Amino acid sequence: MARRFVLPKLVVATHNRGKAGEIATMLKPFGTQIVSAGELGLPSPDETGTTFEANATIKALAATRASGLPVLADDSGLSVHALDDQPGVYTADWEGPTRDAMVGMKRIQDELAKRGVPQTDAARGATFHCVLVLAWPDEHLELFHGTCDGAIVWPIRGTGGHGYDPCFQPLDQRGGGTRTTAEMSDAEKNAISHRGRAFRMMVEACFQ
Ligand code: IMP
Repeated sequence: MARRFVLPKLVVATHNRGKAGEIATMLKPFGTQIVSAGELGLPSPDETGTTFEANATIKALAATRASGLPVLADDSGLSVHALDDQPGVYTADWEGPTRDAMVGMKRIQDELAKRGVPQTDAARGATFHCVLVLAWPDEHLELFHGTCDGAIVWPIRGTGGHGYDPCFQPLDQRGGGTRTTAEMSDAEKNAISHRGRAFRMMVEACFQ
């Protein structure tokens, strides 16, 4: 049985204002006040783990120890099966020093081409992962792992979403079609995405 979250305030372990805002909107119905690690001036720890769980836990524990408050941390990325599940926890690194998603998408396409992987959905299977860790100040942890299965497409399509969305065509296409997540509305993406799924698991287990 997961521990219920009943505290008034929650630190979101991100320095990304957009992400903190999105989380605040999602948790608004539960009366939780959200403050970001950036606003509190908390340092970002090195993400030295080799799994999404390990990295999200590193971020959650660092922030709860530094603030004395409960924390929500996440780690996400894309595993391309024909590339031995790379880039995985290194998904952001594949975007290069300027964090340009086009660089990361091109690298995935180049690696698939180098390995002679055919340009079919079946051969280009990939999974997006999102791990959320809710950490209490006594270091009790609850972990939630959401996934979204799909295929890498090339050329890229769509202008919505963010990051690697234009090269990712999810299997779950509500209403049919072959859209990438960059061709979906935010609400459509949220209904099927790794992050949406992990959030719904967390809300059901700890907030309702
Ligand atoms: P982060 O953990 O949210 O910082 O994401 C790690 C990496 O995964 C970054 O390179 C993001 O661009 C990518 N990523 C995470 N979630 C998504 C998504 O929903 N769509 C596209 N790219 C994503």
